[in-house]
Amino acid sequence: MLHYLSPERPVSQEEKKRRFYQGLETAIWQAERARSHAHSYRDFRVGAAVEAFRDDALSFPHRFRSFYGINTKILKERRPICAEPIALSSALASGYTEAIGLVIIGEPQEDEHGLLHKTLRPCRECRLFMKEHPLMRPETIIITARPPQEECAIIFEEHTLEELLKAYGES
Ligand SMILES: [Zn+2]
Repeated sequence: MLHYLSPERPVSQEEKKRRFYQGLETAIWQAERARSHAHSYRDFRVGAAVEAFRDDALSFPHRFRSFYGINTKILKERRPICAEPIALSSALASGYTEAIGLVIIGEPQEDEHGLLHKTLRPCRECRLFMKEHPLMRPETIIITARPPQEECAIIFEEHTLEELLKAYGES
């Protein structure tokens, strides 16, 4: 039997999920810290953290790593860059092969249907990007959270990618 810390030990989906939830509070605060570096001409800031996995790392701890993204919109007339694809593409660029979970933080704003949810949902472009992205799985967990306040409970919603796409009729 392979040692628990062997980089070759198979890691089940259950274990990946468990690790994601164990680190969730930290991931939310890290995404919030990333958000403080976001750049928006109208001060609409979004931070994202992707908890990624790879099978071929040299040591066990390196099989799990977090990557961050922020939104950038320099001027009103310039193309916006969202936080989610930045985080996902960073993970992919570093050789990671799977997104276990994704945390997205921003002030809620109306989606393209004019609906205001409890938390900020990924925009249509990002949802379709995630649908086709090689790191994403239907079961990848997507946590959308409100910017946390010191000493206040963190408000968040949880979906899988599959559930989110279904909710928007994009599955
Ligand atoms: Zn987006």
